[in-house]
Amino acid sequence: MSTPTDSTRTTLPKVAWIGLGIMGSPMSENLLKAGYEVTGFTLEQDKLDRLAAAGGKVAASIAEAVAQADVIVTMVPASPQVEAVSYGHDGILENAREGALLIDMSSITPQTSIDLAKAAAGRGIRVLDAPVSGGEAGAIEAVLSIMVGGAREAFDEALPLLEALGRTIVLCGPHGSGQTVKAANQLIVAVNIQACAEAVVFLEKSGVDLRAALDVLNGGLAGSTVLARKKDNFLNRDFTPGFRIDLHHKDMGIVTDAARAVGAALPVGAVVAQLVASLRAQGDGGLDHSALLRAVERLSGGQFA
Ligand code: NAD
Repeated sequence: MSTPTDSTRTTLPKVAWIGLGIMGSPMSENLLKAGYEVTGFTLEQDKLDRLAAAGGKVAASIAEAVAQADVIVTMVPASPQVEAVSYGHDGILENAREGALLIDMSSITPQTSIDLAKAAAGRGIRVLDAPVSGGEAGAIEAVLSIMVGGAREAFDEALPLLEALGRTIVLCGPHGSGQTVKAANQLIVAVNIQACAEAVVFLEKSGVDLRAALDVLNGGLAGSTVLARKKDNFLNRDFTPGFRIDLHHKDMGIVTDAARAVGAALPVGAVVAQLVASLRAQGDGGLDHSALLRAVERLSGGQFA
C-alpha cells in the first residue's frame, strides 16, 4: 500500500467510524493507512486511545463524529445498537449532513437494514448494508469479503473505501441483500466449525496425532478457511475471541428467522443453532465460536464435561 500524501488526504472523503471493537479497530486503522481522515466514536476509552495512537481523531459523541463526514461507517454488535446509533436526537440521521453515505458493516437483520435505508432517504442520506466475513484476522489483513446491499451508484462510490478493507466486494442486490448473504455465510461457518469440532474429538479419542490429521485434512476436500483459521484454536484449546459465541447466536437467530420467512428448511442449521445456544447458556458466550469444540467434548464425556 502506498504511503498517503497530503493531496490524497484532501481528496479522499472524510470518514466517521462508529464502533471500534474487535473488527472496527483494525478496519478503521486500515483506512488511516490508506490515507483517509477518520473520526471515531465508541463506548470504550481504550479503543478511542488506540484510534488516536493510530492517527485518527476522537469524537466525544456520535453527533460530533458525523457532523463533517462524507462517509459514515457503523460496526456495532447487532440491530438494537445500529438503531441506537442511527435514530434519535443524538443519532447519525439527525446529525449527518445531507448527501452523506452511511455504510453499515454490522451483521444485523435484513429488515433493520431496509427500514434504516428508508428512514435515511427521508433525510437525504444514502445507505448501504455491507456486512463482512473473514474474522478478526481478515480485518487486520484487509482481506475481508464484503457483501453489499443498496443502490449501484452508492456502491460505486463506496468501492474505493471498501477496497482498503477487503478483497472480495460484491453488490448482492437491493437494501438488505448484503445481510441476507451474510446470514447464509454464518450458517455455513457454524456448520463447518461444528463438523471440524466433531472431527477433532473423534480423532483425539482415536489416538491420532491431531496436528498431522488437521494438516492433511486441510489439503483435501475437507479443507476450508474455517479449518485453516481455527486449527490453532482447536489444537491449543485457545478460545480467545475472535468471533464471540454471543454474536454467532445472534446470527443463527437471524438466519433461522429469515429462512422461515421464505419457506427454506435449514435442518442441520437448526441443530447447530441449538448447540450454539446451549454453549451460551452454559456461560461460554464470551468465547470464540471455535469453542463449539467444548460442546462436543461435553457430549462425548471429554475434558470439559
Ligand atoms: P465488538 O463487541 O468487539 O465491538 C462492537 C463495538 O461497538 C464496541 O467497541 C462498542 O463500544 C461499540 N458500540 C456498541 N454500541 C455502541 C453505541 N451505542 N455507540 C457507539 N459504539 C457502540 O464486536 P465485533 O466483533 O467488532 O463485531 C461487530 C459486528 O461485526 C457484529 O455485528 C459482528 O456480528 C460482525 N462481525 C464480527 C466478526 C468477528 O470476527 N468479530 C466477523 C464478521 C462480522
